[in-house]
Amino acid sequence: MTKRIFRATLTVALTVLLASLVLIVGVLHGYFQDRVLEELASRTSYIALGIEHEGMAYLEDGFPNDCRVTWVAADGAVLWDNREDPAKMENHADRSEVHEALVLGRGHAARYSDTLSQKTLYYALRLSDGSVLRVSDTQYSVWMLVLQALQPVALVMVLAFCLALWLAGRLARQLVEPINAVDLNDPGDEIDYEELAPLVGKLRSQKRQISRQMEDLRRQREEFAAITGNMSEGLLVIDRDTRVLSYNAAALRLLNAQAPAEGESVLTLNREPGFRRCVEEALAGRRREELLEREDGCRRLFASPVELDGQTGGAVIIVLDVTEQEQREALRREFTANVSHELKTPLTAILGTAEILENGMVKAGDIPHFAGNIHREAQRLIGLVNDIIKLSRLDEGGPTAQWETVDLHDAAEEVLRQLAPAAENKQVTMTLEGGPACARGVPQIVEELIYNLCDNAIAYNRPGGSVTVTVADTPEGGRVTVRDTGIGIPPEAQTRVFERFYRVDKSHSSGGTGLGLSIVKHGAAYLGARVELESEPGKGSTFTLVFPKITE
Ligand code: ADP
Repeated sequence: MTKRIFRATLTVALTVLLASLVLIVGVLHGYFQDRVLEELASRTSYIALGIEHEGMAYLEDGFPNDCRVTWVAADGAVLWDNREDPAKMENHADRSEVHEALVLGRGHAARYSDTLSQKTLYYALRLSDGSVLRVSDTQYSVWMLVLQALQPVALVMVLAFCLALWLAGRLARQLVEPINAVDLNDPGDEIDYEELAPLVGKLRSQKRQISRQMEDLRRQREEFAAITGNMSEGLLVIDRDTRVLSYNAAALRLLNAQAPAEGESVLTLNREPGFRRCVEEALAGRRREELLEREDGCRRLFASPVELDGQTGGAVIIVLDVTEQEQREALRREFTANVSHELKTPLTAILGTAEILENGMVKAGDIPHFAGNIHREAQRLIGLVNDIIKLSRLDEGGPTAQWETVDLHDAAEEVLRQLAPAAENKQVTMTLEGGPACARGVPQIVEELIYNLCDNAIAYNRPGGSVTVTVADTPEGGRVTVRDTGIGIPPEAQTRVFERFYRVDKSHSSGGTGLGLSIVKHGAAYLGARVELESEPGKGSTFTLVFPKITE
C-alpha cells in the first residue's frame, strides 16, 4: 500500500511539474512574441514616417541593419530590401502579412525557418501611396529556447524530482502509519481514518466470533479426548486421504504403534493386509470387519465410513482386544471336540457289547462278563459326565453352597476312608500324617480336590507302593500334601497335566477321564488356593494344596 501511494503521488507530482513547465514556456514564449511584435510595429511606423517624408532617400541614407526592412510596391514587387537585391526577389503580394496590409492597412505573420530553430516575425504597414513597408525580426523558436535552457531546466527537474521523491515517500508513510498502527488482535475505538471504522468494527466482531468458536472447539476436543482417552477400545478417525485426524491411547497400545505425526497416514500405524483392507473398504463407503492375529494377541477391527455431504469424507476404526475371547472360543471348540470323543469311546463299547448280547452270540456263562463290560463302560461314562458337570459348575463361578471353615485333616481322613477299597485293590498302602489344619471354603469342593489327588496317587502307583497324605497348618495357611511312590510325571508333561483331557499315557489304560487335575486346578482357583507339583519319573509325585490363611 505504501508503495502504491508513493508511486501515485510521485506520478501526480511529476505530471504536474512537466505540465507546468510546458505551460510556463508556452506562455512566456507567447508573451515575448507579443513584445517583439509591438516593437516591430512601432519601428515600422517610425520607418514609414521617414519614407513618407523623404522617400527612397531615407532608406538609402545608411539604414541600421539590425532588422530586415522590405519595401514592397502595391503590386507586390519588391522596391527595396536591406539584405537582398530587390531585382532578384520574387513578388511579395502573396505573403500573408503583405496581403493583409494591402487589404487591411496592417498585417503581421510569423514563420518558422526550415530547421524550426528560428522563427521570423513580420509586421507590414500600408503607406499612403499604397505600397507596403515590412519590417521583420527573428527570434528563437520555443524548442530552441527549451534546448538552450536545457541545462538549468534539467537541474531544476532533477531537484524537483528529488523533492517529489522525498515528499511522496513521506506522504505515503504518513498515510499508511495510522493503518499500520491498528492492532488487529485488539482493534480499539480510536482510528484516525473514519473510512476504516466499518472495517475495524467488522474485524472486532469477527475476532469475538472466532475466539468463541475456538473456545467451543477446544472444549469439544477436551471432552472428546477425555471420553476416548478412558476407553479400553482403540479409536481412530481418518480423513479420505487416510490421514489420522484423531486417535486414542488404546488404539496405539492395541496396534503396538507409535503416535503418528501430524498429517501422517493411518497405514503407517500397522502394515498388516487386514488393516489396509479395512481402511480401503471403509473409504470406499463399505463397512468392514477384520481379525488381526498377532503375537501379542488378537485384535478385531471394525471400520465404518463417515458420510459428509453425501460422500465418504473419512472413516472411523474401532480396535478391540479379543485375545481372551478368541482363546476361550478355541478352548471351547477343543473341549467340545474332546468331550464328543471321550463320550464316544465308552458308548461304542457299550453298543458293541449290547449288539453281541442281542444277537445271542454269547454263551450263557459269558453273559456276566459282557454285562460287567457294559457296567464298567457305563460307569466310566457317568464318571465323565459328572466330571464335566463339576467343571462347568466351576467355570460358571462354583456351586451355590455356603462357605465354611473346613477341617482339612477330617476331610483327608474321609477321602482315605472312601478310597480304601481302591487302594487295597491296587495293593497300595495309604497313610495320613500331620495335625489339624483348617481352610475357608466349600467342604464338598475341598474334599473333591483331595479325593482327585489321592485317586491319581493310587491309580498311577505300582503294586506295593504307598500314598502319604500330610496335613499341616503353616504360617501361609492350611496345607495338604499327597505324596506317592508311583510312576511319576515327566518334566515336559508337568504343566500340561492340569489341562482338560490331557493324559501322559494316551492309551487311557488307567481308566481316568483326564479331567481330574483340571477340576483340582479350577477348584483350587475358586477357593483361592494354590497347587504345586513335584515329580520324578519312576520315583513318584508330590501334589501340594496350599489354602489361604484364615483371617478372622
Ligand atoms: P486322569 O483321569 O487321566 O487321571 P487327571 O487329570 O487326573 O486325569 O490326570 C491327568 C494325567 O496326569 C493322567 O492321565 C496321568 O497321566 C497324569 N497323572 C496324574 N496324577 C498322577 C500321579 N500321581 N502320578 C503320575 N501321573 C499322574
